[in-house]
Amino acid sequence: MKTLVINSGSSSIKYKLFDMESEAVLAAGVIERIGEESSKLEHKKYPGTEREGKTEQNDRVANHEEGLGKVVALLTDADYGVIRDRAEIDAVGHRVVHGGEAFHAPTVIDDSTIAAIEANASLAPLHNPANLTGIKVAREMFKDVPQVAIFDTAFHQSMPAKAYQYAIPYALYKELGIRRYGFHGTSHRYVTKKAAALLGKKEDEVNLITVHLGNGSSMSAIKNGKCVDTSLGMTPLAGLVMGTRCGDIDPAVHAFLAKQKGMSIEEIDTLFNKESGLKGICGMNDMRDIHTAREKGDAQAQLAVDMLTYRNKKYIGSYLAVLGRVDAIVFTAGIGENDSDVRALSLEGLENFGIEVDQTKNGERKKEARFINTESSTVKVMIVPTDEELEIAQQTMEIVGQ
Ligand code: AMP
Repeated sequence: MKTLVINSGSSSIKYKLFDMESEAVLAAGVIERIGEESSKLEHKKYPGTEREGKTEQNDRVANHEEGLGKVVALLTDADYGVIRDRAEIDAVGHRVVHGGEAFHAPTVIDDSTIAAIEANASLAPLHNPANLTGIKVAREMFKDVPQVAIFDTAFHQSMPAKAYQYAIPYALYKELGIRRYGFHGTSHRYVTKKAAALLGKKEDEVNLITVHLGNGSSMSAIKNGKCVDTSLGMTPLAGLVMGTRCGDIDPAVHAFLAKQKGMSIEEIDTLFNKESGLKGICGMNDMRDIHTAREKGDAQAQLAVDMLTYRNKKYIGSYLAVLGRVDAIVFTAGIGENDSDVRALSLEGLENFGIEVDQTKNGERKKEARFINTESSTVKVMIVPTDEELEIAQQTMEIVGQ
């Protein structure tokens, strides 16, 4: 069985083709700047396939239809291809950002699924329409192939109302669906499964705090394998300090900025989403640059790291309280997997809660999932590299394989 995973953005298509027997990636690539004067396509065949190859092209790709046509042509190409015919693709899995309350699980795409994704577009106006473009084009291109939508929000639909409601008039939830939904669900689900396996427990037995720290970041409280709370909200702006997003902030700052600076709602939204977080504090949003700067004595870079790790610690503390018993704290994504300083600082001083990091293990640079706690730590601390595309492919097969 071969599954194609598609992540369609407004001007991009990312794709990965998996062989589901071995779960190996056969080929992967991305097309960017679709519709612009010159587009960029990168395609790579993976080692272990018959012939290895990588190609980059800069021809204009006018729209998603042409883009996906190019993807299929490359997947079946004599030099760069890994299949003879598109008919070898058994299923297509699509990433969809916002499933609202309509989707708790991966869902086979039919006309009613598309209508429901469209109905949720107001909750993710930048992402859902772009995801739908990819879905519509792929349905035309792979007419008889089952296609499945995997939602970033679905894993968090198990949260109880006390965790997902906002304390504003309830009628607004009823009318507009204003509530916490959470995102990065595919990643939180993937690392939950992996961590359970490494702990030697069944998925429905584990209590975890999963910590996804990338350009966007979120933390989830997982009870018996299910999400009971998560830090992102109705939109991906709440919670932790992120690359360019502020995370939690007093909502009154909106009105204050509007009054003091005459800023519009859109300007304030852009400020909090694109100019805040690490970038707002020290002008940089890549953790590697920030560490280099703080090592040279840059006080703003130090403050940014202090704020990010302090916020992480506050969330860890609150999720310890929510869960009572925690088997493991699991770090993942770009910062979570690679940044030993952020891990150490986020957990510093939590020994009284049974959390002890082995700094030698924490400092080792390895690619595989592993434990970094001391022998005596009652809560395990883990690094589990995330793989959202593989999770999408696996969830697609869960549905299609039935
Ligand atoms: P992601 O969104 O998961 O791709 O994570 C991207 C972010 O991970 C980058 O913006 C960096 O801040 C961070 N990152 C990647 N590699 C490293 C590294 N070796 N050390 C620290 N941070 C890293």
